[in-house]
Amino acid sequence: QPLIQLTDIGRKYVIGAETIHALKSVTLQIYKGEFVALMGPSGSGKSTLMNILGCLDTPTRGEYILNGISVSDMTDDELADVRNKEIGFVFQTFNLLPRSTSLDNVALPLIYAGIGRKQREEMAQKALESVGLGNRVDHKPNELSGGQRQRVAVARALINNPSIILADEPTGNLDTKTSIEIMGLLEEIHSRGNTIILVTHEEDIAQHAHRIVRMRDGLIEDDYPNKDVKSVS
Ligand code: ADP
Ligand code: ADP
Repeated sequence: QPLIQLTDIGRKYVIGAETIHALKSVTLQIYKGEFVALMGPSGSGKSTLMNILGCLDTPTRGEYILNGISVSDMTDDELADVRNKEIGFVFQTFNLLPRSTSLDNVALPLIYAGIGRKQREEMAQKALESVGLGNRVDHKPNELSGGQRQRVAVARALINNPSIILADEPTGNLDTKTSIEIMGLLEEIHSRGNTIILVTHEEDIAQHAHRIVRMRDGLIEDDYPNKDVKSVS
């Protein structure tokens, strides 16, 4: 059974007299442990698909089964629950709380999970160590480099042990050297058994993934295994 099963997913936006079909019909299966790069030109539907995969939005047609549960018809509250349990997000702009330390940023999802303070701090400390930031726990985002901020964001994404990591242009704000470092980190996380879906415009970055899905005009245009995966180490 796939971890993600999308069947004939559509998402349309109605704005006045105009209807935009952001996704026309997307059928896609992703198995546990896959590392997928999602590519395609601007406007092809990548963000819309990521929002649906991440349970931030629901499709206007079709079915989405995540980890055996049909999520396509859930209410916003039910979706929020699934999101907190199943999904770790990494964004281009890091989305860290500017006034909070690395430790507090990483521990935040654990508050929603109802975990007590002491255990939250221990878990966040370990997560920061696992991304190489054991010596930056008390720093705030503006005291960290871009690459370090993205490492904090990755630690936060991992803290709930989610079944999928969704990374939307995670290297989009980083220089080449730092981008490669972050891809090395994602590779390591993948090698620990995590499932990663990555949106990128950059072919070089996509080559780190093991499968490439290309979108165009709300459809999947191409979907193939990456035969020569590029590895950082
Ligand atoms: P990308 O992910 O390719 O960098 P975006 O997803 O931000 O770009 O936007 C892609 C296209 O979708 C743009 O043409 C943008 O104007 C349009 N778009 C994004 N969000 C909205 C919205 N809320 N309402 C209308 N159009 C939108
Ligand atoms: P991508 O991420 O590949 O750039 P998007 O998923 O952002 O593509 O956009 C796909 C299409 O849906 C575009 O035509 C965009 O303008 C439209 N779109 C995206 N979000 C919205 C929205 N909130 N309201 C209206 N149209 C949108």
